[in-house]
Amino acid sequence: MVGSGLAGLQFALKASRKGKVLIVTKAGIDEGSTKYAQGGIAAVLSDEDSFQKHIEDTLISGDGLCNREVVEMVVREAPDKIRELIKMGVEFDKNSKGELDLSREGGHSEHRILHHKDITGQNIEVTLAKRVRENKNIEVWERAFAIDLLTQHHLGRLVKRWHTDIACYGAYILNLQSRKVDTVLAKITVVATGGVGNLYQTTTNPLVATGDGIAMVYRAKGIIENMEFVQFHPTSLYHPGERPSFLITEALRGFGAVLRTADGKKFMHKYDERGCLAPRDIVARAIDNEMKIRGDDYVYLDATHLDAKELVFRFPNIHNKCLSIGIDMRKDMIPVIPAAHYLCGGVRVDKNSRSSIHRLYAIGETSSTGLHGANRLASNSLLEAVVFADHAAEDAIAHLEEYSWQENIPEWDYEGTSHPEEMILVTQSYKELQMIMSNYVGIVRSNLRLQRALTRLEIIYKETEALYKKSVLSRKLCELRNLINVGYLVIKMAQARHESRGLHYNIDYPEKNEQL
Ligand SMILES: Cc1cc2nc3c(=O)[nH]c(=O)nc-3n(C[C@H](O)[C@H](O)[C@H](O)COP(=O)(O)OP(=O)(O)OC[C@H]3O[C@@H](n4cnc5c(N)ncnc54)[C@H](O)[C@@H]3O)c2cc1C
Repeated sequence: MVGSGLAGLQFALKASRKGKVLIVTKAGIDEGSTKYAQGGIAAVLSDEDSFQKHIEDTLISGDGLCNREVVEMVVREAPDKIRELIKMGVEFDKNSKGELDLSREGGHSEHRILHHKDITGQNIEVTLAKRVRENKNIEVWERAFAIDLLTQHHLGRLVKRWHTDIACYGAYILNLQSRKVDTVLAKITVVATGGVGNLYQTTTNPLVATGDGIAMVYRAKGIIENMEFVQFHPTSLYHPGERPSFLITEALRGFGAVLRTADGKKFMHKYDERGCLAPRDIVARAIDNEMKIRGDDYVYLDATHLDAKELVFRFPNIHNKCLSIGIDMRKDMIPVIPAAHYLCGGVRVDKNSRSSIHRLYAIGETSSTGLHGANRLASNSLLEAVVFADHAAEDAIAHLEEYSWQENIPEWDYEGTSHPEEMILVTQSYKELQMIMSNYVGIVRSNLRLQRALTRLEIIYKETEALYKKSVLSRKLCELRNLINVGYLVIKMAQARHESRGLHYNIDYPEKNEQL
């Protein structure tokens, strides 16, 4: 099991009923996007709501690319999964009547979001991590970095992407303390390594979100899809150097804050009649466009005209965060910038989270299940992680006995040395990659920008592969290599989509192609 976010922990807990599970995770057990999820998790739990409404909301958001069967499956299973989480000890807020308090978010036609204050993800992550620690069938290796998946390639066979018999036998795992690489054999391997936010200069994702699982599966010749659909949150605090970026909730705009360019002019009316309250992707695109036209690094969110007392009462976290960097939102405008937030695509999987490679499952944000299509409905991603982790565990349990250990995999070849002066190049290339992706493959794309990105990425790719071959491995180098792989996939899939749909917008193909 690679990864210890909601998807990984949930799988481990379920699969441990039948077999032994080893979780390898590259930072501490609780570090991942799950811990940062604020809003909540969606499920139909009120009498006014219905499965049909949640299904329709998800399909509308997905803009024609959802798999309807998958959407129905996830929505219908959601209430049971919530009950199971509660049984495990996860706490969701209740109202004054003692019933679960359901909130509503953009794109949802009913109140159906369960939350724990504004730290829902943290409560889920900590609770499940505790259950995992108590479980004797689960072993956890922290600061252990999965480098590559083991397949027939490691037995000397030339493996091609179109081969239908590729199988996974485990992974090479780098111990980040000893710098030794272990050959870890597994009857079943699962990747749950989260998203790719660090492809971009500004992201709400933690540092661990570097697309490792997707890159590993791609290198192992598995099928990856829908990588062009990267969701950007329109307003994160502009504070260069801070990662992850601090989210400025949409509720502030709902309360009356307005977006302005650096010279103080309102602009949202030019893009949508709903102005600052237009849907997330439209606001993100408008901000991006204004920044590009004007050459600015940010726009402002102006709350200075609002009732100061009420503002601080309603948004104490934002107020405190802004104050900590010298911005008093009662008097100063807040500099904001869109931030990479969520990846809809990833490793293509079926309803049991099986990838195109035998004995290999992908779950959580790393996977592309068909639930989100071209745009994710808010709070559906934690739900997807739980539902698919359960399906994967059941399927894995049902098939475990069919597999044996693949013994003759060679140990890691340590040949090569690292030169400290070259390691600074890794940092430079990492920054360069983020700049390329942000400037040319961000919210608004064009054929020219995508081609520029590809040309520039190829240079970093060649340099990094050369460095990788002659270096003692480090986390940073492996992450850079993975990000280059996933960056390539985002660019290639964006180039292949000759239309604008959902989160993908290309000015050379501004319309949706209804024939697709
Ligand atoms: C700020 C923020 C707010 C959000 N709010 C919500 C919300 O309200 N509702 C919602 O539904 N979704 C929300 N999301 C999205 C949601 O949190 C994620 O999609 C979800 O938590 C992903 O879970 P995961 O288990 O797939 O990955 P993660 O929780 O990201 O876990 C990935 C794990 O993989 C490990 N890992 C990665 N690479 C390697 C490697 N090479 N070797 C070993 N380990 C590795 C990481 O260390 C980590 O443990 C939010 C995301 C962010 C960033």
